[in-house]
Amino acid sequence: MRVINDIARIKPIISALKNHNASIGFVPTMGALHQGHLSLMKRSFQENDYNIVSIFLNPLQFGKNEDLDKYPRPIEKDMKLCSEYNINLLFSPNTSDIYNGPNDTFIISENLSNQLCGLKRPGHFKGVLTIVAKLFNLIMPDNAYFGEKDYQQAILIKNMVKDLNIPVNIILCPTIRHSDGLAMSSRNEYLDDEDKKRASNLFGAFLKAEKLIKEKKIKKYDHLIEAVCYHLKSNIPDIIIDYIEVLYDGTLEKASVFNRDLRILSAVWIKKTRLIDNYRISI
Ligand code: AMP
Repeated sequence: MRVINDIARIKPIISALKNHNASIGFVPTMGALHQGHLSLMKRSFQENDYNIVSIFLNPLQFGKNEDLDKYPRPIEKDMKLCSEYNINLLFSPNTSDIYNGPNDTFIISENLSNQLCGLKRPGHFKGVLTIVAKLFNLIMPDNAYFGEKDYQQAILIKNMVKDLNIPVNIILCPTIRHSDGLAMSSRNEYLDDEDKKRASNLFGAFLKAEKLIKEKKIKKYDHLIEAVCYHLKSNIPDIIIDYIEVLYDGTLEKASVFNRDLRILSAVWIKKTRLIDNYRISI
């Protein structure tokens, strides 16, 4: 596996791959790799000739008081995992190389970023879309792999690629969970074992919502949200709920009637850790 840290060295490699008509699979990450990331890498390996992972902790998508400084950076372990998962090239650029001088140009989602995490983390999706577009321009992948775990991010990236005619296929992969239902996340490392156990109640709340909807016990949106919040607060007393919402699956449109496949989403705080998750409810 090649490890490349600077932009200048990546360009000739991509040109050579393009000249040989090799298909490029790309998995962008912020590192601290876990089974969720590895599932994307596995899928990329199955579908492409040459596989690239990026590890870049993008300051532009972190708010002032967020966890950029304490975000885990186990680079040696990550390198080993990438190599074990058949990655051909790990691109791990420095911030100064990616943001060389003040950036004046950004990618902004006008509407879809004004809800859910976008409301709670102003500027977050501007940072995400800008770095993803920059990485797409550098890597020029045929296929790029993202997790459903970050559902709003996935929708926004798909939309950006469509709106800006970026020539890449976006492939969404299912959320990988621990056996108790807790979605894998680099931020789980902030939680102790007791908190992790309590955090698994998020998944329990999704299953409860699914049951209430399928058994037609609840038909009104607000009642469903109340029942989910009640379940969460009863099981995780010190939880702070940023949002619980139910959307039509594949969109960011609020589900006023439960008559087609749905997506329930949550963002909560457990102590100082913000966790997001979502779950598809097929009707
Ligand atoms: P991150 O390193 O958090 O930026 O995540 C990099 C990619 O991995 C994103 O596309 C995430 O949606 C995806 N990802 C993170 N956690 C999971 C998970 N538990 N299952 C599947 N994909 C995930």
